[in-house]
Amino acid sequence: MAIHTFTDRNETQTPGTNPAPGKELLDFDIPELQRTLKLAGLLQTSLELESVLQYFSESVQETVPFTGLEYVNNALNFSFNFGKTDRHSCAYRLSIAGDALGEMKFTRNKRFSEGEMEQFENSIYHLVYPLRNAILYQKAVQAAQLDSLTGANNRAAMDRCLERELELAHRHDHPLSLMVVDVDHFKLINDTLGHSAGDAVLKSLTACMKETMRASDMLFRYGGEEFALVLSGTDLDGARQMGERLRAAVAAYPFVYNNKEIDVTVSIGVASLGRRDSANRLFNKADTALYQAKKAGRNQVHSSAEKQGRQS
Ligand code: GH3
Ligand code: MG
Ligand code: MG
Repeated sequence: MAIHTFTDRNETQTPGTNPAPGKELLDFDIPELQRTLKLAGLLQTSLELESVLQYFSESVQETVPFTGLEYVNNALNFSFNFGKTDRHSCAYRLSIAGDALGEMKFTRNKRFSEGEMEQFENSIYHLVYPLRNAILYQKAVQAAQLDSLTGANNRAAMDRCLERELELAHRHDHPLSLMVVDVDHFKLINDTLGHSAGDAVLKSLTACMKETMRASDMLFRYGGEEFALVLSGTDLDGARQMGERLRAAVAAYPFVYNNKEIDVTVSIGVASLGRRDSANRLFNKADTALYQAKKAGRNQVHSSAEKQGRQS
C-alpha cells in the first residue's frame, strides 16, 4: 500500500510520506486504540462507498478537527463531500499495489500540524482496503447496468430509473417525459452490409445521441435497435423539441463503416407523464407514438395523442 501526497494547490500542506502508521502498540493510548478498532470494524460493515466514507469522516473528526473532507474518484465518476471546504488543506492520493483509489482532501481554516497529519495517515491506513472493496462493488454494480455493445445503460437500468423518476415526478409534481428511438430499416443495414456494420451503426448512434442530449437526460438501449431517453423536468413541448433535435442530428451524422458512408435515420415517439400514469403506461404511450411515426413514413417525431399534462 502506498499513500502519496497530492499537492496541486499552493496552500496544500505536504504530509509525511511514510505510508504505514509505524507505531508501536505501547505508543497507543487506550481511547485512541478503541477508536481505531471501532473505525476498522465499522468500515467493514458496508460496501456502499457513501457509507464507508461517511463512517470514516465522522470517526476522523473525533480526533482531528477539520471542516471539510472531499473525496473524488474520476474513474468511477464519483465524488463525496463531508462538511464544507476551507482554506488550508491536506491531501492524499490513495492507492494499493498500483490500483488508484481516488483522491482525498481534508480542509479547515488553520494549518494542520505534523501530529494531525500523522493521525490522518493512521486512519487512512484502515480505510484503504474497505475503500477498495467498495470501489470494486460499485464497479460491478455499474457494469451490470450497462449494455456491453454500446456502453449505454441497459433495459434493467431503464426499469429501475423509470420507477425512481416516476415516483419523484409524482411526489413533487414535476414534468417527466419519455422518448423512444428506433432505427429505420435497420434490418436492411444488417442484410446488405453485414451484422458488424449494424453493430458499428448502433455504437455510432449511441455516440451521436450522447453528444446531442443534455447532461441531465438519461439514455438506455432497451432492445436491439431501440433506445429510450428519460427526460426528467421536461414537459411534452420540450420533449418534442428535443426529439426533433435528435432526429435531425442522427440524419446529419456521418455513419461510416469500412470507409463507406451509411445513411441512417430514426423514428421517435415521445410522451409525458400524466397524473395517474404508471411506468408501463408512459412507455406504451411513447411506443404508440413511435408506431405512428413509422406508419407516417419514418424519420420523424410523433407525440402521444392522449391528453397530456399534469391535469390528465
Ligand atoms: P423499422 O424501420 O420498421 O424499425 O424496421 P427495422 O428493420 O429497423 O426493424 P426490424 O424489427 O424488422 O429489425 C430489427 C433488426 O435489428 C432485426 C435484428 O436482427 C437486428 N438486431 C437486433 N439487435 C442487434 C444487434 O445487437 N446488432 C445488430 N447488428 N443487429 C441487431
Ligand atoms: Mg425495432
Ligand atoms: Mg427499427
